[in-house]
Amino acid sequence: MERSMWFLDQKDMPTQWYNIQADLPEPLPPVLHPATGKPVTSQDLAPLFPMELIKQEVSTERWIDIPQEVQDVYRTWRPTVLYRARRLEKALDTPAKIFYKYEGTSQAGSHKPNTAVAQAYYNKKEGIKRITTETGAGQWGSALAMGCAFFGIECKVYMVRVSYDQKPYRRILMETWGAKCVPSPSPDTKVGRDMLAKWPDCPGSLGLAISEAVEDAVNRDDTHYSLGSVLNHVLLHQTIIGEETRKQMEMADAYPDIIVGCIGGGSNFAGQFLPWIRDKISGKKKDLRIICVEPESCPTVTKGLYAYDYGDVAGFTPLLKMYTLGHNFIPPPIHAGGLRYHGMAPIICHLHRLGFVEAQAVHQTAIFDAGIMFARTEGIISGPEPCHDLKVAIDEALKCKESGEAKTILIAHSGHGHFDLAAYDAYLSGKLVDLAYPEEEVRKAMVELPKVATE
Ligand SMILES: *Cc1c(COP(=O)(O)O)cnc(C)c1O
Repeated sequence: MERSMWFLDQKDMPTQWYNIQADLPEPLPPVLHPATGKPVTSQDLAPLFPMELIKQEVSTERWIDIPQEVQDVYRTWRPTVLYRARRLEKALDTPAKIFYKYEGTSQAGSHKPNTAVAQAYYNKKEGIKRITTETGAGQWGSALAMGCAFFGIECKVYMVRVSYDQKPYRRILMETWGAKCVPSPSPDTKVGRDMLAKWPDCPGSLGLAISEAVEDAVNRDDTHYSLGSVLNHVLLHQTIIGEETRKQMEMADAYPDIIVGCIGGGSNFAGQFLPWIRDKISGKKKDLRIICVEPESCPTVTKGLYAYDYGDVAGFTPLLKMYTLGHNFIPPPIHAGGLRYHGMAPIICHLHRLGFVEAQAVHQTAIFDAGIMFARTEGIISGPEPCHDLKVAIDEALKCKESGEAKTILIAHSGHGHFDLAAYDAYLSGKLVDLAYPEEEVRKAMVELPKVATE
């Protein structure tokens, strides 16, 4: 029998997250306070996050127990399936074995509930009544809205204005799960009001929406803030993906030579590759290749500067050492909304600096070529974000065809594209264009990096 799917029984779902900080060859650079430039303390972060998440942010324990209540919610959609893309392999006529772990079967359609549910749980346990957040195209806002619904917490989402106007469906998802969603900039915060006074038609950006959500949270005792990517605890929660995959690859009697995934803030891909990279760090699988894929028009790792920068426009967030295009950078409006952030997870940047992961930037027409091929062979209509992985996976499989090597390629597939059909429509009608790397915009944004960046 040609097996194409590997299911993990619910009783075999991993019950611990994997913390890479236990195995890093060098520790991460400290997170700095935005006002003092000194390393942040737990107390500095307490107005924003529950103490359990602050502890996870700096923990060096290798395994962290997933609370029973979180496991119970995970089991409403997990474990997710590992697939072998046999029909894609045939179409490419490649000797490569292509596997993909698919996160599109969560209720929200992506990997994001893996952390949304955990964050809602820890906030609930600390007595928090309300959570604020930002969202771009709405994937994160809708995942958090669902997480909050499960734990009885109010949720307020600041949604980037252009997306709010152009993409109503995810707003409707958020409202259906009970969240309040407003376009950002909004009149509800000082940052929002200041921006609207200067620029009434401001289309908004993720960095600005973060400033609004943070301002809202610090001004109310019953409210915390939640971030859907970038931070160490978010990547930690996503490692459930890779830990499941390790068990499933073993069932398939396979081990990856190449792991490929898209990076916006880095959470879905890190969730897949961190559980494998420990074999590369320890020397058990030295030649494992880990390829991070990003859009050519928002090339944070391939063209950004490794420096301390803010996570938001107003400079409210702590300073993170990361590759950045500048916190004021507003990327071109590509269809992969989830990959339009100026910064990147410090863990991924650090591993890139140490030479453990590589990065590639690709254009949007090429990723849709790959997405269409995947849809017509495997059937799944992928989000524009995971189409980035598909493009690079197909390139690698075609290299195998030339060399005759039967490499094993593992794709970290982050979600479906059922709410991104307008992008497929643009592609199919020949209206999709490649947007170049906005060099001038990045140069301007880099001038405004915080002072500590030059030290
Ligand atoms: C948000 C999102 C991404 C990008 O965010 P990461 O933190 O880099 O994972 C990728 N794919 C999908 C489907 C998303 O919703």
